Order: sequence, then C-alpha cells, then structure tokens
Amino acid sequence: MVQKYGGTSVGDADRIRAVAEHVARTRRDGHEVVVVVSAMGKTTDDLIRLAGEVSSTPSPREYDMLVSAGERVTAPLLCMALADFGVSAASFTGSQAGIITTTEHSRAKIIEVKGDRIREALAQGKVPVVAGFQGVSTDRDVTTLGRGGSDTTAVALAAALGASICEIYTDVTGVFSADPRIVPTARRLPKVSFDEMLEIAATGGRVLMLRSVEFARRHRVTLHVRSSFTWEPGTIVTEEDSTMEQAVVTAVTHDATEAKVTVSGVPDRPGVAARLFRALADRAINVDMIVQNISSHGTTDISFTLPKLDLATAVEVCNGLQDELGASGVTSDDGIARVSLIGAGMKTHPGVTATMFETLGADGINIEMISTSTIRISCVVRAEDVERAVRSLHSAFELE
Ligand code: ASP
Ligand code: MG
Repeated sequence: MVQKYGGTSVGDADRIRAVAEHVARTRRDGHEVVVVVSAMGKTTDDLIRLAGEVSSTPSPREYDMLVSAGERVTAPLLCMALADFGVSAASFTGSQAGIITTTEHSRAKIIEVKGDRIREALAQGKVPVVAGFQGVSTDRDVTTLGRGGSDTTAVALAAALGASICEIYTDVTGVFSADPRIVPTARRLPKVSFDEMLEIAATGGRVLMLRSVEFARRHRVTLHVRSSFTWEPGTIVTEEDSTMEQAVVTAVTHDATEAKVTVSGVPDRPGVAARLFRALADRAINVDMIVQNISSHGTTDISFTLPKLDLATAVEVCNGLQDELGASGVTSDDGIARVSLIGAGMKTHPGVTATMFETLGADGINIEMISTSTIRISCVVRAEDVERAVRSLHSAFELE
C-alpha cells in the first residue's frame, strides 16, 4: 500500500515519530508500504514567502527548486525515526523516485513514474519514503505539481506500483457531508464514488486535491482518506458500486474563492462568446460557471465565474474587448460564493433542484447563477449568505 502523510500529520518531531510508529505497525501487519510525505506544517508557505522577500519575480526554475525543499526535509527525518522503530527505510526525492513531469513549473503534470529505485528498495525489504509534490521535468529540472500536490504523487506511485490501496492521512477523519466547522452535525461519509469525490473536490471540499482524484479514477486506485491523529477508519473513495443504495444527496459543499464578471449588452450573434472566452483562455484563466441570458433587442449579457486571483486579469481582458465586441459594459463582483449539492442518486430522483430552490427561497437567499451536472447542482449566492445556505440544505436533505 501507499501511505501519504500531509503537512499537519508530520508537523513536528513528535508527529513524525507517531507516523513512524504507525508505519512500523503497518509493516508488522504484513503490508509492503511506500510512504509519501508533505512538507512539515506551514513550511511550503514559509518558503513561498521567503521567495517573495528576495525577489518580486522569482525565476520559475529556482522557485520550484526552493519550494520542493520542504518535502525533502520530511522524508529523511521520517526515515531516521523509522530506524528507531527497527524499520529500515530510505528517502527519495521525486526525481530519484523517477517521477517524470512536464516542464511547466509550479503546475507540472506527471507524464510517467519510473519507480525503479522504489522497487529496488522494496525488494531489499526497505520502506521507501518519497518526497511528495515534486518531480523532474523532461528538461531535467526539478518541478512541483501545484499546491497540495503530494496527494497526486501518492496516487501516481500507487498506480505505477499496483498498490492495493492509497491511504491519505490528514488532520480530519475523512470526507464529510458538509464542512464540520460550519455544520456541527455533518457526518463522515464511509464511502463515496470517484465521481462524487471529483464534484466534492471541485466545489470546495478541501480534503483532497482535485487532480489526485482524477488520477485515482483514471487508474482505478482506491483511496482511503483518514486521520493520522485518531487512526480510525475514514472515507473510502472508489468505483461506484451498482449494488449500493444510492443516497439522493451525499454532500453539501461551498466555495468562496471565486468572483463573477458580467459583460453586458453584447450582440447576440455567432462568434462573440468564442472571441471572449478564447481571449480569457489565452491568458490561462480557468473559467468555471457561464450564464448567458436570452437576448432582448438583439443583445444579451454573459456572466461567468473564475478564481478571485484571476479577476483583475479577466476584467482587463474584457475591457480590452468591449469595443470590438460592441458590449455596453463590464462589471465584476467578488462578493459571491457557491453552494453545491452532490449525490449520485440525483441522476434518477426528480425534485432535488426544486427542494434546493425552495430551501434557499424560504431562507430569503437569492440565487444569482445556477449550474448543474448529472450529479451536482450549484447556486451562486451572496458570500454572506453561503454558510446559512449550507446549514439549511444540509438539514433539508436530512444529511445529519
Ligand atoms: N507542501 C505542498 C503544499 O503545501 C504539497 C502538499 O502538501 O501536498 O502545497
Ligand atoms: Mg499540504
């Protein structure tokens, strides 16, 4: 099996020893283990801050060399602690583990996992401890996989090695029916499908990095998200099981990291949306929800949401296109938030949308945008209403 330990799980020396003890226990139970570690605590944030203090435009290559260092500290420390528990272990950087990536620094994608040295270490009876979050590019430079990228390292290794399970250890006991800080009665979900987990991760569930879930689904790697503080069983993320009774709604998620842009009065003719969204794509802006109204008098409004971080760039792009598109105005709004319902059973149960809208309506919460997939309904609301919306929906669908 592959075990991944996140930043809080290895936050200090005591935590690292606790993890070592658990790895030793896993070995005594007869499992072959490969461990992937994150940087200790807030190390990555500290390194990013340092980079900003020495330069306003750090070179992407040096930036990755720097921020990948956090994981390289944890890996050998864990090996030392493991030795004290009588377990022989060997640490490896992402590069040594043969994690080959694309060349885009800070958001490189894994192309291949060679893993020769990991297999050799396993064959020698050792526990390989791999520094997460990093790889080596086809240009032979150190790259990183994006924030939270150690999850992806773990899933990629599990797929390459044919592990039976990939355990993701964190500071919560699993995936919940809503954020327990907002809904105290939220329940831990014993099992969710890859599809549900993808929607949860994409709409604000902060437990797993989205890309790691995509990777797990593609390579059919079963995940077990669990706590390294209580060690109790957590949430299994796996293929949808047709014999399982499907809950209509599994979880309520929310996300307040997006903003909204509206381009109003655009002529309703072919090619206008294409021009706008190509220009946004060219600036690497990842647009999320898009709403276009029916036209009246030959013009229409287009609204879309996007990460707040990209708002300034998007407004600049839209302003620049206003004359060319013949639009009458561009407005932006960073006071929005999104609340989403996720559940595989939605596919076959009518009325979920109606109940959602009735619940929000009864609470006097105005819906500004709506989008759906087969197993998700999302509404954009005012940011100050979102926590209330999550609580009401959680109880309306009896998720407690
Ligand atoms: N240390 C990196 C981060 O904080 C990667 C990880 O923790 O997965 O983003
Ligand atoms: Mg982390």
